[in-house]
Amino acid sequence: MSTFPDIASQPPAVAPATAKRLEKLGIRRRFDLVLHLPLRYEDETHLYPIAQAPYGQAVLVEGEVVAHEVQYRPRKQLLVQLEDKSGTLMLRFIHFYPNHLKQLAQGKRVRALGEVRRGFRGDEMVHPKIREVLEGDPLADSLTPIYPTVNGLTQPVLRRLIHAELKAQTLGETLPEAVRGQLGLVPFADSIRLLHAPTPEYSATQLADPALPAWQRLKFDELLAQQLSMRLAYRARRRGKAPVIAGDGRLRAALSASLPFALTAAQQKVLGEITADLAQPHPMHRLLQGDVGSGKTVVAALSALAAIEAGFQVALMAPTEILAEQHYLKLSAWLAPLGIEVAWLSGSLRKKQKSAALEQVASGQARLVIGTHALFQDEVVFDNLGFSIVDEQHRFGVGQRLALQGKGGEPHQLMMSATPIPRTLAMSFYADLDVSVIDELPPGRTPIVTKLINSARRDEVVAYVDRTCAGGQQAYWVCPLIEESETLQLQTAVDTHAQLAEDLPHWRVGLVHGRMKASEKAEVMAAFAANELQVLVATTVIEVGVDVPNASLMVIEHAERMGLAQLHQLRGRVGRGAAKSACVLMFDTPLSELAKARLKVIYENTDGFEIARQDLNIRGPGEFLGARQSGLPMLRFADLEQDIELLEAAKELAPELLKRWPNEAAAHLTRWLAGREHFLKA
Ligand code: ADP
Ligand code: MG
Repeated sequence: MSTFPDIASQPPAVAPATAKRLEKLGIRRRFDLVLHLPLRYEDETHLYPIAQAPYGQAVLVEGEVVAHEVQYRPRKQLLVQLEDKSGTLMLRFIHFYPNHLKQLAQGKRVRALGEVRRGFRGDEMVHPKIREVLEGDPLADSLTPIYPTVNGLTQPVLRRLIHAELKAQTLGETLPEAVRGQLGLVPFADSIRLLHAPTPEYSATQLADPALPAWQRLKFDELLAQQLSMRLAYRARRRGKAPVIAGDGRLRAALSASLPFALTAAQQKVLGEITADLAQPHPMHRLLQGDVGSGKTVVAALSALAAIEAGFQVALMAPTEILAEQHYLKLSAWLAPLGIEVAWLSGSLRKKQKSAALEQVASGQARLVIGTHALFQDEVVFDNLGFSIVDEQHRFGVGQRLALQGKGGEPHQLMMSATPIPRTLAMSFYADLDVSVIDELPPGRTPIVTKLINSARRDEVVAYVDRTCAGGQQAYWVCPLIEESETLQLQTAVDTHAQLAEDLPHWRVGLVHGRMKASEKAEVMAAFAANELQVLVATTVIEVGVDVPNASLMVIEHAERMGLAQLHQLRGRVGRGAAKSACVLMFDTPLSELAKARLKVIYENTDGFEIARQDLNIRGPGEFLGARQSGLPMLRFADLEQDIELLEAAKELAPELLKRWPNEAAAHLTRWLAGREHFLKA
């Protein structure tokens, strides 16, 4: 019963042009047509007398064309008067073709499907679907499914293809009877048939209800397929081969001894988890979560040393040049005294520097390589890469993470993120990762005071910056985000810099923005880190990871334009030293409801996990993954927020199915995911 017959996996027998269009819809096999489910339904089972057709819903009417006119003013349009025994109705077409004129000639009898609304000259339907009929032609006996489609592939063609497959395919059950009964799920075949060809007793509204048992079944099956594939990916990884990395601890001890602080208990715990994984003969895929400022960098450095001790190379990738460079500076300073060579690779290196760096990496002379995604281009060849670390992993697309997996066999991987992953995502798309959490901040941090200040009171903010610098501390001043125009954003930063330099004559004010060359940025950042600049005006380029402990004031202009994650990241740039820190959020009135809600959350909360949770409430899920941009197929039917119970049930069933009913599990996976697994593993 639970095999996947050949006929299911054959490509649809259609012309190449149609095959291409089907492909765009994700339909590559004949069975994919079966799983291509309607978006909604149209009701052509019932004819309304024109005079009694209700407003606000699609209705089918039939009548004779009694008048037909192409108007040119105020715009070109086709107006058709349709009449039945009860009344008349105007059909209006703004786009029309010669075919329409023929079908809607005077005296023709047609059925029109559309919404009736009150128009200028009485009731009308705009762009109804029309069909020529003879008096007494039978009506459809069930609702008409409307499928997601692409240009050039019409509903009737798609419908015909799908219905042919419903006849040809065996819609076998992949859930054992006992399991299905226990979960209260309806059979697969019934669900598929109902959704593609609903029986007359179902209304369009009922069929659109996600709680309909047929939809529940499909959502469950989809989630189960995802869970199965995640578990298999996890198992495959556990079976995969990776170097056993067990260093002698010599370098780690040396670095620890040179640090001006002791690791927190949380840092020690996650370091233990990571080094235990590295010592396994299969590749680690571990996500290290820790709030902004929780000290992930030193954990990365110490775990890198574990690999270096054991003779392997390590790669560290960061999403922006500024952050990568900062890691480079910091880690070189930590590792150089231990006699370890660190290489730097970024897109902006000059040719000569670049080939020198590539040579360092290829020869194995460089034990640690730090850079942006330039690290993972083909020309970069490692001598013996054993471990790669990705900082701020949520900034990378799935594709980039995949490229990284492809480098040098199967190195161990550590992904670091300050953006906590909501539980449902962790349970679904990230289910094959192991997770470590740093759940405490280093001691001695004074909490950051957050202030909301209307931008009309800018003078007071400037005075505050002045006082902060007078106290020996430093300040960031973040310029507004201007999404529409990068040039305008740049201009604003330049203007703000000039203005602040004038307002604060006693202090040196620097500027850093996204259009500067990497080397210029690095110079400015280094000057700020050395307190040669007291105030740093910046665009949001400093958003992630920048670390200057002596900076204790963060001013953010137009905070109402920024997202919560961004505000939290920016605020986290201060509060890193012993001095009392503050974050001033300047805003312009009037505030939108959304902006108000966001500012309230950031004002009231300092815990990144809580902020992320509330962010999810405000925005809804989905954006966390950045999945749409990165080509990860989202779930088609299931909704992670609504279907949490189904997700939990699927998660629980997956291992059991694999163990007790391996054939069914295999059939289920093939049915849902054949040819797509690689996406889900990312
Ligand atoms: P993030 O987790 O945001 O990447 P960082 O690694 O940049 O945080 O660390 C933030 C700051 O805290 C750095 O200045 C770092 O040197 C410091 N730090 C890290 N661990 C500790 C610790 N255990 N005690 C004191 N300071 C620490
Ligand atoms: Mg960091």
